[in-house]
Amino acid sequence: MSAPIPASASASGRRQILVTSALPYANGQIHIGHMVEYIQTNIWVRTLRMHGHEVYYVGADDTHGTPIMLRAEKEGITPKQLIERVWKEHKRDFDSFGVSFDNYYSTDAEENRVLCNTIYGALQQAGLIDARDIEQAYDPVKKMFLPDRFIKGQCPKCGAKDQYGDNCEVCGSTYQPTELINPYSVVSGATPVRKTSTHYFFKLSDPRCETFLRGWVSGLAQPEATNKMREWLGDQGEAKLADWDISRDSPYFGFEIPGAPGKYFYVWVDAPVGYYASFKNLVDRIGLTFDDWVKPGSKAEQYHFIGKDILYFHTLFWPAMLEFSGHRTPTNVFAHGFLTVDGAKMSKSRGTFITAQSVIDTGLNPEWLRYYFAAKLNSTMEDIDLNLEDFQVRVNSDLVGKYVNIASRAASFLIKRFDGRVQDSAMHHTLLQTMRAAIPQIAGFYESREYGRALRTTMELADAVNGYVDTAKPWEQVKDPANAVALHETCSVSLEAFRLLSLALKPVLPKLVESVEAFLGIAPLVWADADKPLSSANPVNAYKHLTTRVDPKQIEALLAANRESLQPGAETAAPKADAKKDAKKGKAGATREEAGIVSIDDFAKIDLRIAKIVDCKTVEGSDKLLQLTLDIGKEKTRNVFSGIRSAYQPQDLIGKLTVMVANLAPRKMKFGLSEGMVLAASATDERAEPGLYILEPHSGAKPGMRVK
Ligand SMILES: [Zn+2]
Repeated sequence: MSAPIPASASASGRRQILVTSALPYANGQIHIGHMVEYIQTNIWVRTLRMHGHEVYYVGADDTHGTPIMLRAEKEGITPKQLIERVWKEHKRDFDSFGVSFDNYYSTDAEENRVLCNTIYGALQQAGLIDARDIEQAYDPVKKMFLPDRFIKGQCPKCGAKDQYGDNCEVCGSTYQPTELINPYSVVSGATPVRKTSTHYFFKLSDPRCETFLRGWVSGLAQPEATNKMREWLGDQGEAKLADWDISRDSPYFGFEIPGAPGKYFYVWVDAPVGYYASFKNLVDRIGLTFDDWVKPGSKAEQYHFIGKDILYFHTLFWPAMLEFSGHRTPTNVFAHGFLTVDGAKMSKSRGTFITAQSVIDTGLNPEWLRYYFAAKLNSTMEDIDLNLEDFQVRVNSDLVGKYVNIASRAASFLIKRFDGRVQDSAMHHTLLQTMRAAIPQIAGFYESREYGRALRTTMELADAVNGYVDTAKPWEQVKDPANAVALHETCSVSLEAFRLLSLALKPVLPKLVESVEAFLGIAPLVWADADKPLSSANPVNAYKHLTTRVDPKQIEALLAANRESLQPGAETAAPKADAKKDAKKGKAGATREEAGIVSIDDFAKIDLRIAKIVDCKTVEGSDKLLQLTLDIGKEKTRNVFSGIRSAYQPQDLIGKLTVMVANLAPRKMKFGLSEGMVLAASATDERAEPGLYILEPHSGAKPGMRVK
């Protein structure tokens, strides 16, 4: 096996393993982008269960925070009613996709409140909680403080537009919402104002945290994750970790912080603690001792599967919170990439923002998607693509053409001619021995999260079996009674090979393999069954159709069901609060830029003017900005701060003409008032192609001329 057996394995080899997937936000439907993670985790969990280990896979809805509060308000129901309804929808979707949680819970639970309070209290005892007055964004229209994610604007690091207030989905940076360029409130569209309030911080900058995390990082399984953490940690002694703001002011839907009326735990406190709360709820029901699993020195292993966008929270905050509150730390964190559909981000207008429910409604077998995702998944954080044409071809050719056909070809002869009983001597055939020898390797690929390799190896074996059948030609053998023994051998080898392929596919296709087990009349398959062949003592049952091909019409129906009509203005009107948490999980919802079309009237609202850069200076305290003085033909010049410091020296711009947005609402910045913005070109992927280029008109243009 390629996966290492951790030191915690007991003498019997039976490990205790707690596994989680990130908690979906209780504010919207589960879509296939989410499903990548649940399927990935579930395949892993099933693999380990098939070894006989004691595995618990827990999850929960992430139910707190401002978006839930606002959404419930909009629907005229209480937040509790909202999260109860969404929980049922999520549970239904997970069940349909075979995502077998041992417990699916909610962060709005008493166990979670108690655990949050305990962990917070311990961190306070350890001197790692700090209260500080901070100036924060406040929506003057909605009269509430704006959570990071309710402010959007331009990323201060890479300049990407429409990024949330706490981290950038383009370059992956994290920052304070105050650093955003041109911020706006997602709730009302108003420009946020500054307002002071007391906040509580987890002191991640404390040297104890840094020292601990430097050690912890070396245990991470993914080199990309280790590198990312080293980048965040910086060099030894070069303290780079910022304290983490863990409180939010009322109005807020969540847990009030003990001893701090009107202050609530930020959702990123009670979400990861929610893993433990779900597990606590489970162990209390089944009679395990919670502390045996979560206290230092625990022999159990603890793994978190997450999207790469929330690595920061799971590799810095969460382990540090656990370490300094008297808990064991995660054994490992496994991050995966995002899902694209047909090479592009999922899109409501193209119908590729595919909900789990729509897959069921269209009659597509969810296990086909499990198979396809698994075929694409490996242990890295690479994004994976669902190519809908490739999906049909692969499912039809692999699952129907190569795998299920083996059974349908062999079963009828065996049942009709041999009473459904295999020929015992055929069980030693070399083909079968080769296959049995490959099973531990395939199980190892699953455990090291190399699902693509596991399935490639399995399909190579299926090819070998089909080659064997094609050579033996049972349809010829059946014509001559003298060949009865040979025919019996062919059918027996085929069916035993089919059993072994089913074993290899079981973590991915649990439901299909359950039908196979019923057909073969055998107990639920586990890895150790590789060496327990079919027996003549135990005849197989009547063969029933196991699966069908993907029909292209189903794919068309799926896209149609998910396609939202493109009504100009419909998605550009107001930023969607609903999209908020989808983006938190890295699978962005339809956003207004996605509609992509504005009316000529909308365009005409923007007053673009030729501007002469009459002065240009660096800005003290900022390595991003240049301060421009612009002449646009009026008596008063404009002062503009522009994030182009990386591309230009001030003296190179003085005297040049450019284009500015002249009617942009003035914005108060730390360095002064910015009265507009200049236009600059940059690549859509600035990591691949860095560089900023401000626009310059052809000669003849004069300051103040209108650009249309
Ligand atoms: Zn960025």
